Amino acid sequence: MTARVLVVDDILANVRLLEAKLAAEYFEVVTAMNGVDALETVQRTKPDIVLLDVMMPGIDGIEVCKRIKANPQTQHIPVVMVTALDQPDDRVRGLEAGADDFLTKPVSDVSLFCRVKSLVRLKMLTDELRTRTVGVGAMQMLGTSRAAMDTQPGRVLVVDNRAAVADRIRTSLAGRHSVSVAEDPQQAVAIASEQIERFELIIVNLDMEGFDAMRLCSQLKSLDLTRQTPILIIVDPDDHQRLLRALDMGVNDYLIRPIDKQELLARVNTQIRRCRYTEQLRLNVQTSIEMAVTDALTGLYNRRYLETHLNHLVEHSINRGKPLSLLALDVDYFKSINDQYGHDVGDRVLQELAGRIRASVRNVDMACRTGGEEFVVVLPSTEIAVAERIGERMRKSVAGKRFNSASEGGLGITISVGVAALTGADDKVEDILKRADQALYQAKRDGRNRVVLTAA
Ligand code: GH3
Ligand code: MG
Ligand code: MG
Repeated sequence: MTARVLVVDDILANVRLLEAKLAAEYFEVVTAMNGVDALETVQRTKPDIVLLDVMMPGIDGIEVCKRIKANPQTQHIPVVMVTALDQPDDRVRGLEAGADDFLTKPVSDVSLFCRVKSLVRLKMLTDELRTRTVGVGAMQMLGTSRAAMDTQPGRVLVVDNRAAVADRIRTSLAGRHSVSVAEDPQQAVAIASEQIERFELIIVNLDMEGFDAMRLCSQLKSLDLTRQTPILIIVDPDDHQRLLRALDMGVNDYLIRPIDKQELLARVNTQIRRCRYTEQLRLNVQTSIEMAVTDALTGLYNRRYLETHLNHLVEHSINRGKPLSLLALDVDYFKSINDQYGHDVGDRVLQELAGRIRASVRNVDMACRTGGEEFVVVLPSTEIAVAERIGERMRKSVAGKRFNSASEGGLGITISVGVAALTGADDKVEDILKRADQALYQAKRDGRNRVVLTAA
């Protein structure tokens, strides 16, 4: 992972120490030695994370954090407060100022890299969500705003066989997140698989008497239901070996006993956010793929999809020596429906029509909305005579039953259909489409509400 880290401390030796550690892990490091300098450097270098000493003369770390978080241009940059062990109040003030996490001096390597990696990863997800325009559209469609993703209570599972510890965690998170408790690994897996909505974080006590909590972590990382769920472990300060092994195994973050309430809250929030952003990105990718090929009003394929895929289908049919037919459909007198009942009613007619078209074709057929009230249905492996019967069935399914979804009392709608087929190895997609269109116009001229085959 490469990322730009801003280290802020008024003591040069502290700056140099963190700088050396981070540079050794190939992070790009920028530094500042007072509050004013820090704010200017944030603006200028747009770091991926800020490590901020609390105690500095002039503008102190708490104030710098507040200003970073108050500026819309920089508020998404994670801030880690570097606090002294004997100043627990700094953490409360840090959280209130909007800090994302804490490091305690002297800073250990494990905690430094764990904090930095975890928050940088979260920031990359945030950046991706911020920059993807499709993402913004998709999020609006799904009705989820960034703010909602950050404020909705998280679903947390705590695995601990000491009721007192589990209770303390529940109390610390109360009001922010909803917490379930499992008393042993078996129960944890059972509870996780009963959930309708997945847990967004699992907190595992690594020191459960009589149970192998490490095995549980590895199991959670491999089960389908929990594989995507971040895991936060609780370890004893002297359990360094197991901590490293757990992190290697893919455990996302840790807390050292005794648990600091502010640290707990900060880490839980980061992991839940990360879980949500990842899920949102996954949904966005899926939605944007669907949006690119389907028509928003009817859900049928769009013209672009037809154009790219019809080529493949025709080529495939030619290579296999199979027939292929195509229907061009157009609603009769659609303009007068809009004029009489309004555009919204017209839209609903198109939606119901799309449903009837979809219901009269097979899965392998490709139904597309190519324009306002114009549709094309591609029928692979279908002779023109069969296509004519399918067109006729479609025509009847439209004319035979009034469109109730569109207007009270229902509307009588009819369609005209032109049928064309692939004629041989040198036939072209544009020509097939043109012949279907000509047949469609013939159907219109012949009086509408009918199916017409291409003239031979
Ligand atoms: P014909 O029987 O000759 O096909 O007559 P028509 O009125 O259906 O034909 P025309 O092509 O003149 O009119 C199509 C109308 O479809 C014009 C346009 O207002 C309407 N239209 C196009 N796209 C949409 C749409 O997305 N929603 C709605 N409600 N109407 C649309
Ligand atoms: Mg029409
Ligand atoms: Mg038309």
